[in-house]
Amino acid sequence: MPELPEVETIRRSLQEPLEGARLLSVQVRDRRLRRPIAVAALERLNGRQIADIGRRGKYLLLHLVGGGGLLIHLGMSGRVVLVPRDTVLDLHDHVCWQFEGDGARCGVEMRFRDPRRFGLVLSRATGDLGEHPLLASLGPEPFDAAFSVDYLRERAARSRRPVKNMLMDASVVAGLGNIYVCEVLWAAGVNPKTQAGRISPARWARVREATIEVLAGAIDQGGTTLNDFRDPSGEMGYFQVRLQAYGREAQPCLRCGSSIRRISQSGRSTFYCPGCQH
Ligand SMILES: [Zn+2]
Repeated sequence: MPELPEVETIRRSLQEPLEGARLLSVQVRDRRLRRPIAVAALERLNGRQIADIGRRGKYLLLHLVGGGGLLIHLGMSGRVVLVPRDTVLDLHDHVCWQFEGDGARCGVEMRFRDPRRFGLVLSRATGDLGEHPLLASLGPEPFDAAFSVDYLRERAARSRRPVKNMLMDASVVAGLGNIYVCEVLWAAGVNPKTQAGRISPARWARVREATIEVLAGAIDQGGTTLNDFRDPSGEMGYFQVRLQAYGREAQPCLRCGSSIRRISQSGRSTFYCPGCQH
């Protein structure tokens, strides 16, 4: 499942080719996503110019000059790829956009590809995409100053829920999924079962730093494998990052050698080290 680092990597890959390009046309080959695509509304964006490619949590935001734009969520298996316009269609290419503009832009096509169709492609003609109702309840971005130790303490105050569940809550911090929460808590040396309200300020500081380091590291690694990641003929599967805890059940902890344990929290697998996560 695509997590924040994959979405950020896609955002970066689109920024340079598409910034300033003008939407020329769009084909919707299958409108049955998590919400049906509003085809006429999507077509009404033709002729508009892309101002910027943004990201909020796990949403990609294609902002248009003058307001409005596209809001794309990758769901369980979605991707956004840039390919030469004459590239053979993939079975799961549900939406294709063409552009006009200088040089390479006019020969490029952006495709939304999603085998399981849990993704979203939404459009707005006007206004700030960042104020879309789907984004209204999202907490701060992990890289923002608002994601501070004071903020974490405030959100955790008197909370008895496990710290892992708190960090999985998108209203607490945007875009942190199951894999990266496990990685962050391992890096911070914090037991995922610890009640959020019992974590000290010094430990919250470690959680905050680990969040930034783990995500930034994954984005860097994603950048180095970007060509494979974008390969239109490649197999599904997102770029592989070096995971320290997630998926390593019964293997020795890379820090203390204890056996990594897997438990279930709110129906999701948690991987942690009972030897060095307290
Ligand atoms: Zn350990």
